[in-house]
Amino acid sequence: MGAGLRVTVWNEGVHEKVNSEVRKLYPDGIGAQIAQHLEKQPDIESVYVSELDHDGQGLTPVIVDSTDVMLWWGHTAHDQVTDENVQRVHERVLNGMGLVVLHSGHYSKIFKALMGTECGLKWRDVGEKERLWVVDPAHPIAEGLPEYIELPETEMYGEHFNIPQPDQLVFISWFAGGEVFRSGCCWHRGQGKVFYFRPGHETFPIYHDEWVLKVIHNGVKWAVPSGLQTVTRGNAQPLEPL
Ligand code: ZN
Repeated sequence: MGAGLRVTVWNEGVHEKVNSEVRKLYPDGIGAQIAQHLEKQPDIESVYVSELDHDGQGLTPVIVDSTDVMLWWGHTAHDQVTDENVQRVHERVLNGMGLVVLHSGHYSKIFKALMGTECGLKWRDVGEKERLWVVDPAHPIAEGLPEYIELPETEMYGEHFNIPQPDQLVFISWFAGGEVFRSGCCWHRGQGKVFYFRPGHETFPIYHDEWVLKVIHNGVKWAVPSGLQTVTRGNAQPLEPL
């Protein structure tokens, strides 16, 4: 798609308002911090930040229909997103919109709907070290990265991560406490692509890390709508005489 790429960062926007620690790290919100990096990229035309307390939960038909790739950050208010809005995003993904789901978005309604599994995992919030290893060095999401990324202090997510087998696995994380986790997973759903990327706990400066931001940008580029614009299904006339 190249120059015309329209990105929407959907940010739940709750922690920033109620937790001063989070507000200090993200004074304008987690969504705005991610957006300011994407806005600098010449291959992205526009970046819009949507939040739960916006009109229509920031997921109106106008917004969703004019988004090529949506990012999703949510943690504490997954249940507040209406089923109608989840359905709208789900249909757009099946029709080609890319979706990049971040960190605690593993428990969002939209991610669970797209996966069809419970999406649970182990977790521990003591600020331990994480090392994300690139396990698919030829994957577009690994473009320009070192062999591994280190985050000195983060929340641990551990296996088993209750997801369907990813179509492509880009990162596996190791944590100082001993667990491992599939941290960068890709799936195709209908004509759309879904990328789950683990880092992002709100009380650590994860979205200030240049490598994390680069992975998010690479994930957006990978998830761009591509391939056929229209696919027909149902009863079909033969192409050759039968
Ligand atoms: Zn977290």
